[in-house]
Amino acid sequence: MPKAQETVLEIDLKALKHNFEHLKSRITNNTKFMAVVKAFAYGNDACEIACYLQNLPVDYFAVAFVHEGVKLRKAGITKPILVLHPQAANFNILIENCLEPNLYNTKILNEFITIASAEKLTDYPIHIKFNTGLNRLGFSENDVNTIAFRVKETSAVKIKSVFSHLAASEDLNERDFTISQIETFKKITEAIATQIGYKPLLHICNTSGILNYPEGHFDMVRSGIGLYGFGNSEKENKNFKPIGTLKTIISQIHDIEKGQSVGYNRAFKTDAFLRTATLPIGHADGIGRQYGKGKGYVIINKQRAYILGNVCMDMIMVDVTNIDCKEGDEVIVFDSNTTAEKLAETANTISYELITAISQRVKRSFVEN
Ligand SMILES: *Cc1c(COP(=O)(O)O)cnc(C)c1O
Repeated sequence: MPKAQETVLEIDLKALKHNFEHLKSRITNNTKFMAVVKAFAYGNDACEIACYLQNLPVDYFAVAFVHEGVKLRKAGITKPILVLHPQAANFNILIENCLEPNLYNTKILNEFITIASAEKLTDYPIHIKFNTGLNRLGFSENDVNTIAFRVKETSAVKIKSVFSHLAASEDLNERDFTISQIETFKKITEAIATQIGYKPLLHICNTSGILNYPEGHFDMVRSGIGLYGFGNSEKENKNFKPIGTLKTIISQIHDIEKGQSVGYNRAFKTDAFLRTATLPIGHADGIGRQYGKGKGYVIINKQRAYILGNVCMDMIMVDVTNIDCKEGDEVIVFDSNTTAEKLAETANTISYELITAISQRVKRSFVEN
């Protein structure tokens, strides 16, 4: 691998393939696979990731918002794309780009049917989401009759899938709750299939649902974080390879005398001699201020160098007093050993937040190792 000469997020497509194949090995051949590539494919570049996955047996893609789906279409993605959280203001763009909306309440269902009818569409694929306990988005069980009535009286739309989302699939202490969500989902989907007279695809599992609840796989599963290399538990992490390596370099080394301070607000003051390295990566690149003041660290020459004082917009200063290094040396922020999950833990957050926060100004480079 070439040594970094600037801040770069290196993305390993071989690792992506490995993760995909592992996830596929955990489902049956009859279960479809939806690759969740919202939020720039969790910071990894959705177009590149989806273009690579499109040549593998992926059945569906999912994004959160309409403009994310438009970008995929422009990049040449032809497989179906579910928009998990569309807004009615974008329905015309959604239709022009053959994107498929998640409709989660009566208001948005009616709004979509109105537009689809005006456009004289027939059997336009829609997806109906039920709330089974997350209490975020979704119809309630009581809405089954209304949905069936609205969908049966129009030829503009057809329910392609019915789905729900688990609240705590990674937490085995919440097993009973998750099982009850799966049971509620079964009950609701049986009722709706009876009323509309056909069987839409059913899906409820995200990555941890796939790994922990085979009884919840139904017709399709949806995976995001697993594809990017995290299994949300020590045991499952062993089966995955984080696809992203965030690297940077040492711009400058300073010798700091006793009594001096480092960075804004003099947030770090030293009572002994100290050597620091300044790195060209800051909160505008996705390393938030919560990683500062000795919480987060980077790896230089295989050793941990802790962040000193406040994280700046474009820089951090790290402690290299006991590390053999020089200006221009490579620095690892996270990789497959010192993972984004471990770094995220130092700031009491999760891998999802750290990797999706890596900003667009950080160069992405794709490798197949
Ligand atoms: C983001 C999201 C997923 C993917 O979850 P992972 O834990 O990353 O696999 C699946 N389903 C829905 C509805 C989502 O919003």
